[in-house]
Amino acid sequence: MSQETSTPARLAANKRALLAQLLKQRGIEAPAADAIMRRPDQQDAPLSFAQQRLWFLDQLEPESPRYNVFSGYRLEGTLHVPALERSLSEILRRHEALRARFVDVDGQPQLRLAPPGPFALALLNLEGLPPTERASEAREVALTEARRPFRLTETPLIRATLLRLGEAEHVLLLSMHHIASDGWSMGVLTRELWVLYEAFRQGQPSPLPELKAQYADFAGWQRQWLQGGVLEEQLSYWRRQLQGLATLELPTDRPRPPVQGFGGAWRFRPLPAGLMDRVKALSQREGATVFMTLLAAFSTLLQRYSGHDDIAVGSLIANRTRSELEGLIGFFANTLVLRTDLSGDPTFRELLRRVRNVALGAYAHQDVPFEKLVEELKPARHLSRSPLFQVAFVLQNAPAAEVRLPGLTVSSGSGWIDSRVSKFDLTLNMDDSKPGSISFEYSTDLFDAATIDRMAGHLQTLLEAAVEDPGRRISELSRLSGAERQQILRDWNATGRVVPPAAVHDLFAAQARLTPEAVAVVADDGSLTYGELDRRSNRLARRLRGLGVGPGALAAVYVERSTGMMVALFGILKAGGAYMPVDPAYPLERIGVMLEDAHPTVIVAQVPVAGLPTSDTPIVGLDDDATESDAPLAAGAGPEDLAYVIFTSGSTGRPKGVQVPHRALTNLLSSMRDAPGLSERDVLLAVTTLAFDIAGLELFLPLMTGARVVLASRETAGDPSALAALIDESGATVMQATPATWRMLIDSGWAGRGGLRVLCGGEALPVQLAGELRARSGELWNVYGPTETTIWSTAERVEEVGSTVSIGRPIANTSVYVLDARLQPVPRGARGELYIGGRGVARGYLDRPELTAERFVPDPFGDEPGARMYRTGDLARYRSDGRLECGGRVDHQLKLRGFRIEPGEIEAVLRTHPEVRDCVVVVREEHADRRLVAYVVTRAEGTAPAAELRRLLESRLPAHMVPSAFVTLPALPR
Ligand code: AMP
Ligand code: MG
Repeated sequence: MSQETSTPARLAANKRALLAQLLKQRGIEAPAADAIMRRPDQQDAPLSFAQQRLWFLDQLEPESPRYNVFSGYRLEGTLHVPALERSLSEILRRHEALRARFVDVDGQPQLRLAPPGPFALALLNLEGLPPTERASEAREVALTEARRPFRLTETPLIRATLLRLGEAEHVLLLSMHHIASDGWSMGVLTRELWVLYEAFRQGQPSPLPELKAQYADFAGWQRQWLQGGVLEEQLSYWRRQLQGLATLELPTDRPRPPVQGFGGAWRFRPLPAGLMDRVKALSQREGATVFMTLLAAFSTLLQRYSGHDDIAVGSLIANRTRSELEGLIGFFANTLVLRTDLSGDPTFRELLRRVRNVALGAYAHQDVPFEKLVEELKPARHLSRSPLFQVAFVLQNAPAAEVRLPGLTVSSGSGWIDSRVSKFDLTLNMDDSKPGSISFEYSTDLFDAATIDRMAGHLQTLLEAAVEDPGRRISELSRLSGAERQQILRDWNATGRVVPPAAVHDLFAAQARLTPEAVAVVADDGSLTYGELDRRSNRLARRLRGLGVGPGALAAVYVERSTGMMVALFGILKAGGAYMPVDPAYPLERIGVMLEDAHPTVIVAQVPVAGLPTSDTPIVGLDDDATESDAPLAAGAGPEDLAYVIFTSGSTGRPKGVQVPHRALTNLLSSMRDAPGLSERDVLLAVTTLAFDIAGLELFLPLMTGARVVLASRETAGDPSALAALIDESGATVMQATPATWRMLIDSGWAGRGGLRVLCGGEALPVQLAGELRARSGELWNVYGPTETTIWSTAERVEEVGSTVSIGRPIANTSVYVLDARLQPVPRGARGELYIGGRGVARGYLDRPELTAERFVPDPFGDEPGARMYRTGDLARYRSDGRLECGGRVDHQLKLRGFRIEPGEIEAVLRTHPEVRDCVVVVREEHADRRLVAYVVTRAEGTAPAAELRRLLESRLPAHMVPSAFVTLPALPR
């Protein structure tokens, strides 16, 4: 028998005393204990609130094993089976809850008692099996038994199965439905069972005193007591406490199924010797319980993984607040939502103080059944999640691990029996009887065992750090172990590769010397060989040099997609300048802003120029170079000089120019030449507007390799059937585009091209599109990167299309970091903000030092002194193997057809319209008809802001992509 001191009743008494003391310190009186009266008769009884809720859930999901309470025991020694059976019959007689069934009386469930009778113990003899198979068969039977549903309309709500493995070896499986039982009840059951067994075996009567009350008495009392003012006071506490509670989004290994499954598993973790003793000592010093200290550590862990500061954890409490309930079997357990604010990076000691307040407040209001709370608070219900909390922490008052009787040893089977059910996403369990270990029950729909093991390891690290110095801030406590840091920061960023620093036009010129006769570029206006393009761009370079274009100077390119566009680009670069694309399709307003900000030295344009905003900037015609020599100029730009400036969205409403040096561009190009790979036999079909940085890959990669680039015209790039035809006619082997363009092609019936290497990037690659592209191409690559780190920073060859598409790993000489708000790396699997360091990092924003300093920050992990990293604003996480997943933003940046739009840009328009007080703008792309629809919902009459928004959005997108429709919905009622 377990020692007297740890019986549940004694433990409960201790806990009640401690709670009363803690509450008293805070001026709260422990709940008054009105006596629970025995019901006078055996008529139908009402259900308790908890039973009613469970009954309701059973109607929704009949006969689910989710609510089975199960335990298995190994019995070693001589077993007296009739004594065991009689003991079970006696327990059934004593505890009415096990004999009650649920009947429908006019649509209301009622409890109806069955008279006591003999208990049928199911016997299964496994002796016939080879000895090696008995244990595994026993485990199988246990699993089946644990998951065998109960019918609430039938009695009893308890089952027992005895497996005979040998003369002196048995396994006893006990299961009850939660509606008649709970964890504590399991303790009561086993305690009574072995006391009775021992008495009956010796031919003596039951030594147990009759019970003072029955479950139905409690249910009736609860309904009487918990109403009116008492109920209202409790509910209003919870309403305040849980107001605005958000769903805890732990990053999962697999997408959440639309309907929550119950499949689960357990992982145990023994803690190092002495850790729990130190946790106890710390708790005592801080006037807290061990539970509170563990909850503080667990909440820190959850903050780390979710990135949220507002953490709610469900906690099951025994809820036997009255002594007459302590010896009963029945569903008393209640669930409390413990919501802790972890904001402001508190010390562990301060956090423990917060947790203590939360817990004491919750205990003082523990009488509202969780079920009632859900009914009252009406949280948004999703079939995919449990309401109010998704993660739980349970301190088990489990039955003693071992019971020794004369001739028989009973050991509890947790550990070798796993019911494979999980009630919540994740439950942390601490077992009173096994203080040296913790375990996690987790949903196998969501998590892999390896992920859970890692979390358990992190929890241990946290606890160790907390007991060592509770004065440290929680961000410090949750630092990763040295080995993890090494793996995440170093091993997965081991991308170093020799890429000689060079300017991109030098790489082209070198290639032109090797293959002067090869065709370099094909466009609607004809084609140029490498030699021709080299000579023509030399001539233009000379002319531009004469106009002052050299290192540090900017030249705008205002040219349609043609062979001349390539001459313009190389002409500017060879002169030593950086180019700045101005898409002729852009609205004049936007072109005006860009020219004003960048004040280029010249504008290179096709002549005659139509429609450029008037300015004093000289315009250089593409054909103005007839008199110049076509010999190369002496070197102009070096690797650190700028190659281009690309304007992208700005959070203040004004687009900003990203300044990209040659070393960043040539690093990207040589990395991409290796993977996805390009050779001189390749033909790359270029479809992207020059205004978009990724066009740089399409134009320069082939021309530093000896391959051919075919320029699709603006019209062709926007017309799916023309584009599909050009893919075939051009003999393309490589094409890069945004998901929107690929979607457009597929939706128009494009059949694909067997050998095509498809690069997709600029926006998240949806799983379905990935599958469709895989089926229509030779190779599919998902490429990811912001303009600020030069075209692409990670790449993934998409082989198998799973449930999400990875963005892969960093390219050459590039580091990626997934960090929390304090720039600390988050563990594998946890979500954080993606930062990018290495050679691709741009110089910054043109003439915007403050904005540059805000987004390009010192790289604390880089080896090179002065190295910076770029804050992408993208949320990402590592998969176990080091590949990255990216999804969601820390801000509200939108991407439409590959173009960024910051909310600031929309706000800038709205600011100029003070009459608009509340306004919601929903911008949505409608794929079917390729329209961009912006819904503007305002409280104001009139459409002025809508018209301006339309202009803004149009100015962000090249004309061929837009034909947009703006819908202004009627004013909202006040
Ligand atoms: P931009 O500077 O216009 O290229 O925009 C960069 C942003 O586009 C990134 O910060 C991401 O939000 C998004 N992005 C680009 N490529 C991908 C991709 N393959 N998957 C998911 N998001 C992407
Ligand atoms: Mg990009």
